[in-house]
Amino acid sequence: MLALSAGCPQKGGEPGTGFGRPERHEEAAKKTLMDSTTATAELGWIVHPPSGWEEVSGYDENMNTIRTYQVCNVFESSQNNWLRTKFIRRRGAHRIHVEMKFSVRDCSSIPSVPGSCKETFNLYYYEADFDSATKTFPNWMENPWVKVDTIAADESFSQVDLGGRVMKINTEVRSFGPVSRSGFYLAFQDYGGCMSLIAVRVFYRKCPRIIQNGAIFQETLSGAESTSLVAARGSCIANAEEVDVPIKLYCNGDGEWLVPIGRCMCKAGFEAVENGTVCRGCPSGTFKANQGDEACTHCPINSRTTSEGATNCVCRNGYYRADLDPLDMPCTTIPSAPQSVISSVNETSLMLEWTPPRDSGGREDLVYNIICKSCGSGRGACTRCGDNVQYAPRQLGLTEPRIYISDLLAHTQYTFEIQAVNGVTDQSPFSPQFASVNITTNQAAPSAVSIMHQVSRTVDSITLSWSQPDQPNGVILDYELQYYEKELSEYNATAIKSPTNTVTVQGLKAGAIYVFQVRARTVAGYGRYSGKMYFQTMTEAEYQTSIQEKLPLIVGSSAAGLVFLIAVVVIAIVCNRRRGFERADSEYTDKLQHYTSGHMTPGMKIYIDPFTYEDPNEAVREFAKEIDISCVKIEQVIGAGEFGEVCSGHLKLPGKREIFVAIKTLKSGYTEKQRRDFLSEASIMGQFDHPNVIHLEGVVTKSTPVMIITEFMENGSLDSFLRQNDGQFTVIQLVGMLRGIAAGMKYLADMNYVHRDLAARNILVNSNLVCKVSDFGLSRFLEDDTSDPTYTSALGGKIPIRWTAPEAIQYRKFTSASDVWSYGIVMWEVMSYGERPYWDMTNQDVINAIEQDYRLPPPMDCPSALHQLMLDCWQKDRNHRPKFGQIVNTLDKMIRNPNSLKAMAPLSSGINLPLLDRTIPDYTSFNTVDEWLEAIKMGQYKESFANAGFTSFDVVSQMMME
Ligand code: AMP
Repeated sequence: MLALSAGCPQKGGEPGTGFGRPERHEEAAKKTLMDSTTATAELGWIVHPPSGWEEVSGYDENMNTIRTYQVCNVFESSQNNWLRTKFIRRRGAHRIHVEMKFSVRDCSSIPSVPGSCKETFNLYYYEADFDSATKTFPNWMENPWVKVDTIAADESFSQVDLGGRVMKINTEVRSFGPVSRSGFYLAFQDYGGCMSLIAVRVFYRKCPRIIQNGAIFQETLSGAESTSLVAARGSCIANAEEVDVPIKLYCNGDGEWLVPIGRCMCKAGFEAVENGTVCRGCPSGTFKANQGDEACTHCPINSRTTSEGATNCVCRNGYYRADLDPLDMPCTTIPSAPQSVISSVNETSLMLEWTPPRDSGGREDLVYNIICKSCGSGRGACTRCGDNVQYAPRQLGLTEPRIYISDLLAHTQYTFEIQAVNGVTDQSPFSPQFASVNITTNQAAPSAVSIMHQVSRTVDSITLSWSQPDQPNGVILDYELQYYEKELSEYNATAIKSPTNTVTVQGLKAGAIYVFQVRARTVAGYGRYSGKMYFQTMTEAEYQTSIQEKLPLIVGSSAAGLVFLIAVVVIAIVCNRRRGFERADSEYTDKLQHYTSGHMTPGMKIYIDPFTYEDPNEAVREFAKEIDISCVKIEQVIGAGEFGEVCSGHLKLPGKREIFVAIKTLKSGYTEKQRRDFLSEASIMGQFDHPNVIHLEGVVTKSTPVMIITEFMENGSLDSFLRQNDGQFTVIQLVGMLRGIAAGMKYLADMNYVHRDLAARNILVNSNLVCKVSDFGLSRFLEDDTSDPTYTSALGGKIPIRWTAPEAIQYRKFTSASDVWSYGIVMWEVMSYGERPYWDMTNQDVINAIEQDYRLPPPMDCPSALHQLMLDCWQKDRNHRPKFGQIVNTLDKMIRNPNSLKAMAPLSSGINLPLLDRTIPDYTSFNTVDEWLEAIKMGQYKESFANAGFTSFDVVSQMMME
């Protein structure tokens, strides 16, 4: 047998890298099942026949001893030499790889070698569940053995140089599978070659545990075929979250991971480190706002973290972040105050300029707001300026450091605060920093009159009236009216002065159009002229028609006076002084009373009758705010008005809080006239603004039903409220109610408004017992309105007789003094808790009684001071009645000094009390009934009295009207 030695391979002469030094990752993917080079003793593999393979010791390249097998029976024929390994456990592998290192001698290099010399060998395997092989089993032949391959040498050595030992080593790897039993044997079959099997290594491949794309993939065995891919599911590493699912990798037959699908990324507050294998919490002072690959970043200026793993940085004290500020923007603060304010006042306007704050707070959204406070003449607290002050370009959110403010009041001290505000001002608990400046406005001329109305006209005159300028800027001394005929030029204008806001221009041409302009004058001089307004005188023809249409408004006195009253009691002294005609007032007197009052304070705001407008809708537009129906919520019907239902509900105007309101509706099917009359109440109410006058919120005219919306008065009308609460209030409470009504009436009288229907039914009461004057409708006075018996037809309209002053009943002289009479009746209604004035006397009896100076007696428990005030209101001569201002003062005194209310009026018992005769001394000042009858020139009735049993004042005081 030829000697063959494994020997040392030539250094660097081999393909591959030799054992023990595979590339790292490749090696990591292999799992060794058996390695012949690691055997320390004999390998002890089974050979068959014994003359074939032979175990020999040798050295590897590191001069370590290794065990090898060699065979070289080339000169003997029919060789079939088997070498079988020991039982090799599969350990889960599906595919087995065998790496063989061997050398083969080149047959041609062997002198006189027979033709049977071989340079290859065969590799076989045999699977078994346990180590069951013996010397004869399995049979030494293909089948039962499974052939893997015939292995040929890439290089064979051709000579053996005993001195130098040139030898070529081949490395071949073969694989087989699938294997499924618990283990297997390998066999090497030589059939006539000369070779040396230097090392055999058996392994399987696996994909190692790795972290890729933020996910962990556990160690995975490769598939049974070299081409198979085994899918492995990954799970996110700690503090990472899935971005795409599923997260997968495939392990191929070579133990390589392929085809990554899906991925995980570090969540907010964590960043990827160590090659993306760990998500680490952001170190303190850094943050990461979102999930992603990016690294943590340093906290922006003026912010800090409170722990590791921060997803944002919190602002330091005094610094803030606006809602839209990005998290990586520095925290900012409020600006310091504006500086160096310069103000220049020009009459009633003002220019303010300043320089920006020293510190903008670190932001670029700095703006300025202007707060205006008016401080009156300088004493007392300042109050916020009203809506009429004008700001240019605007009051809030100024971007430039200047503003022009106009329409201030003349001679008034103002404080302006210029606030510096930016995007974080709202977040700061402190008010914005501001610079303030005090200024005092100068004298200024009044503003222009906005509108003029025609009161009346004839062929040669026009009477005009106008409201005072919105900004009188002082006391209006007088007005100057300039006019000229439209056909002529302005240079022909005539100017006339008027101390009041009404004037009659005379000496005009018939049927001609004139142009009018008016301006007001104060100590500061004239204001601007109003816009031009055109009015036309009557033509002769129009004039003739108008006087024919005029009915003489002659109102007689009550003719019934002579047959009088109180049949039983003979106290009656018939002194029916027939009233002469005071004056047959013109058609306009009633409507336009307001303009003719001689004592009107110049410049005072006056009431304008909506019917003086040629188009009453114009009056509605001027005095009543239009409300969109979508702002109104009707909830409940609470009463019946003259024109339709009265409801309660809610009103929510944009930018204002929701309020409770009363809603008067105009029922459908109305005529144009009814609509006008209905809305006239709003045009009247809309001119008033006083806590004791019902407040108009607005009207709905652009949709149906047409509505008038007013504040809601929880306790409804005063008369029914008192009836429902009979005897429940203290005198002071009742006087408080009366005081409110008087204050509301004073305001109306000051505006030259005459109510004409003041009665407890027309006073509304709110939940705080505040009484407010209401009912400004005019229609019930009209002749054609039939519904209500309270209003009796009289010449020239309907009149609520029991509440109306005699001069108004007789010749329609309605004035604030006649309202004072009605107020006295309201006092009586209040103090009697809603009793009907004059009980069930007929209207005619009431008229007669009043004419004969009888007056209502004090109600039960009525302080005499109050009854005295009632009697004052019922003075026959209207000039002797107190003014509403005096009534308010008198009631105020009573409230301040309740003792004055202790004394009760004498006639204070009984139900049907007799009326009091105001012309005779009070019987309480006499000792006997006879004395009294003498004093009142009724001595002839002494006997009748005695016979009828009226012998004492007690009995007399019980006499009934009948
Ligand atoms: P009028 O048409 O004004 O007489 O209203 C009819 C009824 O509706 C009144 O008698 C009240 O009961 C009720 N009413 C009218 N206005 C209001 C209001 N502002 N608040 C509460 N109730 C009201």
